[in-house]
Amino acid sequence: MTCFLIGATLLLAVATGRFTRWPAWWGVSSLCIGTGLLCGALRGHIPSVLSIEFGNTVNVAGAILLLMGVRSFAGKPPGWSLLAAAMLATWIAMAVMPGDEGFKGRVVFTAMVLGCCDAAIAREGVLLARRHGLRSGWILAAFFMPTVPIYAVRAIAVIADPTHNTLFPPAAPVQSWVAAASIGFVILRGNTLLLLVAERSQGVLENLARRDPLTGLLNRSGLEDALAAMAGRGGAGGLQATLVVADIDHFKTLNDGAGHAAGDEVLLLFAEVARQTLRGNDIVARQGGDEFVVVLPGLDATEAMAVAERLRIGFRKATSLRTHWPIRPTLSIGLAQAELGRRSISDLLREADVALYRAKRLGRDRVEAQSPLAATP
Ligand code: GH3
Ligand code: MG
Repeated sequence: MTCFLIGATLLLAVATGRFTRWPAWWGVSSLCIGTGLLCGALRGHIPSVLSIEFGNTVNVAGAILLLMGVRSFAGKPPGWSLLAAAMLATWIAMAVMPGDEGFKGRVVFTAMVLGCCDAAIAREGVLLARRHGLRSGWILAAFFMPTVPIYAVRAIAVIADPTHNTLFPPAAPVQSWVAAASIGFVILRGNTLLLLVAERSQGVLENLARRDPLTGLLNRSGLEDALAAMAGRGGAGGLQATLVVADIDHFKTLNDGAGHAAGDEVLLLFAEVARQTLRGNDIVARQGGDEFVVVLPGLDATEAMAVAERLRIGFRKATSLRTHWPIRPTLSIGLAQAELGRRSISDLLREADVALYRAKRLGRDRVEAQSPLAATP
């Protein structure tokens, strides 16, 4: 009943069209597992081909679909051939081990398949946490790992005990506990899968809000967050950093002469040169239009000046290779020494802007520093 309810809820959620499609995998999986368990529970009341062959096959299909859903969520091919092979193998295994005498073999087979599925899902959870940075991947692993030894014990117990055809005596109180724990697990697992989806959606939204869609660089709001985080790392005394404002020269002329697409290409080129020139803990952002902001923490004035020069020359080299453009865009750059955390970001940007305008006035394609930085040699 729990499986059916969870499956229906997940599928209804997907049917609204307001969520990602991942829960559909898990919804179908839950319905399959529910159907398999129901067929098993009706053993003796329905033909054995339904309670044994069909019930176990559909149960295994549910477990594999869950694994396929998690793999597909992780960006891997889901593995349809695995599903087909597992279903075929299960049907054949159930058919060649019929009746009470085949019970042990059937339990061992299904326990092994289901245990392997849960182990594979737990592994995917660890990979999602490590490679994709999704913390709920750890929770997924935590809820799928415990059943692996449980399935192993179940298989060993049924082999070791030749007298019982059921795992526990039918009326034993432990049956109720096992049933209650199973329901708890089904609910917790369903919730964990939704947590995974929610965590990823949150990440995607944050990315959209903080990044410029064209260049992939931070936008103004992302820059403010990154600067606040950087200032926080500096502690109470603030953090010494250099603020660099770079503006593309004669961008409008290129845009008007060669078209908007060429303009976009130049913006992308800047992003590429910046990524190649700067270090991992530097910040690069697109302020808007053809203006970019770079923050260099922990450099003195001379070193910061050298980095800005490298950026200017690197960009000039990159644009000089595009011979089909009517003009070769260059960079004008303004620098200001900043104590992050002590003064507002707008104040600091204004200072760097003053230096940038000086660079423009003095003929463009140059780096200028706002005092107290040294001027360009
Ligand atoms: P200066 O040398 O003084 O910097 O002059 P400029 O021609 O570069 O002039 P300005 O910086 O004012 O030009 C900004 C232009 O950028 C105006 C706008 O049409 C264009 N622009 C803004 N956003 C985009 C964009 O996303 N793509 C493209 N292709 N152009 C953009
Ligand atoms: Mg410009």
